[in-house]
Amino acid sequence: MKLPIFNAPRAGYCTCLPKYNLNTYLGRCAHACIYCYAVKFPSFIGPTSPRLKLLDHIESMARDTQRKLPVMMSDCTDSYQPLEKEHKITRRCAEVLAKHSFPLLIVTKSDSVTRDLDVFKQTPTVVSITVTTLREDIASFIEPHAPSPDRRISALQKVANKDIPVVARIDPIIPTINDDEKDFERLVSTLAEVGVKQITMATMKPVKGFFSTLKQLNPEVYERLFRLYADGKWVVGYKYLREELRRKILEKLRPIVLKHELSFASCREGFSQLNTALCDGTAYCRNLLNAYFDNLVKS
Ligand code: SF4
Repeated sequence: MKLPIFNAPRAGYCTCLPKYNLNTYLGRCAHACIYCYAVKFPSFIGPTSPRLKLLDHIESMARDTQRKLPVMMSDCTDSYQPLEKEHKITRRCAEVLAKHSFPLLIVTKSDSVTRDLDVFKQTPTVVSITVTTLREDIASFIEPHAPSPDRRISALQKVANKDIPVVARIDPIIPTINDDEKDFERLVSTLAEVGVKQITMATMKPVKGFFSTLKQLNPEVYERLFRLYADGKWVVGYKYLREELRRKILEKLRPIVLKHELSFASCREGFSQLNTALCDGTAYCRNLLNAYFDNLVKS
């Protein structure tokens, strides 16, 4: 058994280079974000469940996978669930992958990622932490059970202090909720201060069922967002704001990122010409990738 390749939805404007993806947990994610994109995946159904069997297979998966492409953990249920404290599946998988020289791309919303800095130091690793806002009132509405923005900022700082490249994902940007320029400036300035190298941004792309849930949670916000998305289009199961509006939001916020001398990337927007870096932070472990592509050309 080999490591699974990240299944990039190219039709959804994904520009990711080849990489693997490993989900260490299945089922509903404990963070319970109202905008969660993963709810449309079959593996997200049911209570959070640790993939204990992965621990029996990860060694052979790493051994049988020749190409040392980065391994992302993960694209679905967050790899740093509260259950991870007990099961340590993400940690043990990262240890094995590091031993086999796979670069790691960690994507999480949890500050408990800092427990594993010693493992990340053993192989080229990029840690991406999502921070959509500094405002507790907004965070507790859109990400009710995720660690607070303060805890995530402090985690970013701890990672950066270990000289491990950190990316902050301001994703999603929800129009009228977290796209205020002053709030955004405060957020980016804080991220720059704690040592973030890059900001990756994406506008919200709701999945089926989002608006009916939102209507029950907050009818006023529902009315506003429903109107804004009404003339958007569906792309591979996601509702996009109309192109002009998406571009307007990104062009309003991008200069703030560049002003703070951070790299900028948009994710699955179709505006890669605005990017100064790859959205998943792969560039920071590019040496190994380059070696892989060189070998490919030679062989
Ligand atoms: S952290 Fe990610 S996977 Fe978990 S609920 Fe939020 S958006 Fe979904």
